[in-house]
Amino acid sequence: MSQRMQQGQPMIVMSEDSQRVKDRDAQDYNIRAARAVAEAVRSTLGPKGMDKMLVDSMGSVTITNDGVTILKEMDIDNPTAEMIIEVAETQEDEAGDGTTTAVAVTGELLKNAEELLEQDIHPTAIIKGFHMAAEQAREEIDDIAEEIDTEDEGLLRKTAETSMTGKGAEVNKEHLSQLIVDAVGAVTVETDDGDSVVDLEFLKIETQSGRAVGESELLEGGIVDKDPVHDNMPTDVEDASILLLNDPIEIEEADVDTEVSITDPDQLQQFLDREEKQLRDKVDHIVDTGANVVFCQKGIDDLAQHFLAKEGILAVRRTKKSDLEFLSEVVDGAVVGDLEAATEDDLGSGSVTRDDDDDLFYVEGDDSHGVTLLLRGSTEHVVDELERGVTDALDVVAQTVADGRVLAGGGAIEVELASRLRDYADSVSGREQLAVEAFADSLELVPRVLAENAGLDSIDILVDLRAAHDDGEIRAGLNAWTGDVEDTFESGIVEPAHAKEQAVTSATEAANLVLKIDDIIAAGDLSTDGEDEEMPPGGPGGMGGMGGGMGGMM
Ligand code: ADP
Ligand code: MG
Repeated sequence: MSQRMQQGQPMIVMSEDSQRVKDRDAQDYNIRAARAVAEAVRSTLGPKGMDKMLVDSMGSVTITNDGVTILKEMDIDNPTAEMIIEVAETQEDEAGDGTTTAVAVTGELLKNAEELLEQDIHPTAIIKGFHMAAEQAREEIDDIAEEIDTEDEGLLRKTAETSMTGKGAEVNKEHLSQLIVDAVGAVTVETDDGDSVVDLEFLKIETQSGRAVGESELLEGGIVDKDPVHDNMPTDVEDASILLLNDPIEIEEADVDTEVSITDPDQLQQFLDREEKQLRDKVDHIVDTGANVVFCQKGIDDLAQHFLAKEGILAVRRTKKSDLEFLSEVVDGAVVGDLEAATEDDLGSGSVTRDDDDDLFYVEGDDSHGVTLLLRGSTEHVVDELERGVTDALDVVAQTVADGRVLAGGGAIEVELASRLRDYADSVSGREQLAVEAFADSLELVPRVLAENAGLDSIDILVDLRAAHDDGEIRAGLNAWTGDVEDTFESGIVEPAHAKEQAVTSATEAANLVLKIDDIIAAGDLSTDGEDEEMPPGGPGGMGGMGGGMGGMM
């Protein structure tokens, strides 16, 4: 039975299980997916944004207000939605803050693009218009941004506070923002041409639950949250020569499967002696290097512990890898992977001090510049969310120090940009003009949502904001605490310009990526309309394929 392909018949290259969606249907499908993601994080935007409780399949709970965390934990199973999550991740990598803004604006760009598509405007024109608008917006941001004195601590603290608000750091935000500014200061170095370079590699964040947030502190050097392996070891070593070891101090078994058959007691003794000698040799080698402190990432045999204690060496086992790496910076020593190869040159120098209240060691280097930000909070959930907020704020302050340009927040920058983009649109011809206008409208989503989340009338607020900007009040924004439209720069709601530029860039790229697709070919099932009765609540984008992993939220 030979089956030949007949002339003129299309060749079938897709398997029967695969699905294909084209043109407007493809755009529709993608836009709905992207908007559903945007809707999911919108309610967390701003200082009065709500938190989300995420429960993963193992039942563990995360409570957060952080856009990128929400999206990462949501376990989304939809290719377009995943593209939007990448926007958040890019924003997080490039700017450290502004993830919710980037994703929410992406959703709004697509919503407005959909209206243009319905008017039969070709996606290419929309993409081009969005691109032009984004370019113009970045230029305007640079024009609007204010150059600040990067040593102005008060202002830096405000950028930290603005970034942290709404992230569980409210009560202690003065204390925390000071710690953040100090921490960044500690790892900032001036280059020869007078530029400031912030190296966050030299900054480590540690968390501990059980104490109040207000007891968070900034420490010189690093900490190791472990106990000595033996009671008879010193716990404080002032002139410490520190070996950082990623190799067990244990008996090496030649082969796991080797069986030792012992027939008489002498043989047993020999065998034990051999083992003891091996451990003895290892400890002797440590003594030879001159080390009096060993932080070991692996295990330490009981007998070796005993030998080390006898030698007066402080040893810690199962030190976290990240701790060892950081200590390597702090004490300027190498992480040694093979004990036999360790030499005096590998050792770091500094001091080790025991904190008996918290059961941890403080490790300071003699002449290096690592610092640890020790964040405390009553419970794990509190500390975890605090850490997310503080990490964003650290990036924000670091960026502000490096870049020196800031903007008025609370939607001030977005409204000003929208107004300038509408002027710019007049100079754009063709269909692209409509896209530039749509872009301007999309930016105004930020003040609208900030107002909405603060329980205010978003239309009233937007009207007031536009009026203020028409009157030339460039810094007029919404103060979500008072509900007033005011000069938000003066009220201390200040954001770094770089993060905003990045948000414009990432949102535009993501929206354009989605708009460019006119054909979806899926190997498996693409659940579209009608097949799923359950749709995620709250969003216009109730598309299938995304319902699954979201059971734990909203
Ligand atoms: P993102 O993930 O985009 O950083 P956030 O939840 O951190 O989202 O919210 C950031 C937005 O909140 C920014 O537009 C910022 O200007 C605004 N914002 C911060 N503090 C205030 C405030 N007190 N009043 C109004 N808006 C504020
Ligand atoms: Mg933020």
